Amino acid sequence: MTSTGPILRRGRRASSLVTSTVLAVGLLVAAGPASADEPTPTAPNPTGPTPTQPTPATAVQVVEPPVVTGTARYGSTLTSTTGRYEPGTAQVTRQWLRDGAPIRGATAATYRLVGADVGRRVAVRVVASADGLEQATTTTGPTTAVATAPLTVRTAPRIAGTRRYGQVLQASAGRWSSSGLTKRYQWYRDRTVIRGATQRRYAIAPADVGHRLRVRVTVSKAYHRTASATAVTAPVRHRRDARRTLTYSVRSDGSRGSLATFRRQAAQTLADARGWPGAGVRFREVRSGGDFTLVLARASRLTSYSTECSVLYSCRVGRNVIINEDRWVHTTRVWRSAKGSVRDYRHMVVNHEVGHFLGRGHLGCPGRGQAAPIMQQQSKGLHGCRVNPWPRRDEL
Ligand SMILES: [Zn+2]
Repeated sequence: MTSTGPILRRGRRASSLVTSTVLAVGLLVAAGPASADEPTPTAPNPTGPTPTQPTPATAVQVVEPPVVTGTARYGSTLTSTTGRYEPGTAQVTRQWLRDGAPIRGATAATYRLVGADVGRRVAVRVVASADGLEQATTTTGPTTAVATAPLTVRTAPRIAGTRRYGQVLQASAGRWSSSGLTKRYQWYRDRTVIRGATQRRYAIAPADVGHRLRVRVTVSKAYHRTASATAVTAPVRHRRDARRTLTYSVRSDGSRGSLATFRRQAAQTLADARGWPGAGVRFREVRSGGDFTLVLARASRLTSYSTECSVLYSCRVGRNVIINEDRWVHTTRVWRSAKGSVRDYRHMVVNHEVGHFLGRGHLGCPGRGQAAPIMQQQSKGLHGCRVNPWPRRDEL
């Protein structure tokens, strides 16, 4: 940006500039030809020569009209000249105008634009007077409509905290060109708005794992243009980094339902940040074999794996993790009366039986009203706990 003259700025927004063009209103009162009701100064005199006499001035004359310079924007200061007059000893008074009406007390060479000026046009009226002469009144052309002021970011917003599921991030709004701002926050998962995430703090959700979190800080203030700036994290990680990868295959043992649905939903459960990945285990499905086999079995097949298994429940025997199809489809009476959903039961039963494969034994309800441990036998009874399809933090 270059500067020409003291304040006149050639900014990006041409509309916010004051033009230096002026309108001289009423300045030709006396400078033109005499009006008809005055005696004609050049009346012929039959008795002598006709001298050429200058018309005597009856009013102050404007030699150079006043000018307003500066940026027509809230908070900016406009400057005006008073112009030059003949005679040079003429007394001048100045009045700033808002949409043509005098602004009370605004008679100095400079005028700082206030909230009431936003959207209005400002001008200066100068009255020049001298003894024995009519005064000359000149009004500058108005500015463009006074614009709101910009808000610019000086230090970008930042996100503090550990970017892992289970942690809470905190945004700082950054530093801006003005104080006393109203600040709003909106968090995004990659480019997608996270509904309801409008506070400075954000608790990382399971769905965030593998994605970048972003916060948009929007600042606003009266007579300023609302502005925003964004901060972004690196991809969010699991509670813990994977320490080992287990492979598994999926098969049916006499089941009648959709094995594709079983395969897909089990894979979702095993990949979910709320599940065993939080203990540092990663799962990868393979076509056959693998570290364990996930079986969707007809209920009557359960006892064929071990006499310890029951046709009523799911079971884990050696490398086989056997999900009872009756339970997969219908859940249990306990689960239904606790208003647990079918999808959550499926998460629970896969997590529980895979938990056995990981070497976990059964746990009891730790206290009335608490979330049941994933290794509690929730199919059989809750014992005061709430249904819970995921490992508790103390199980990871
Ligand atoms: Zn069990």
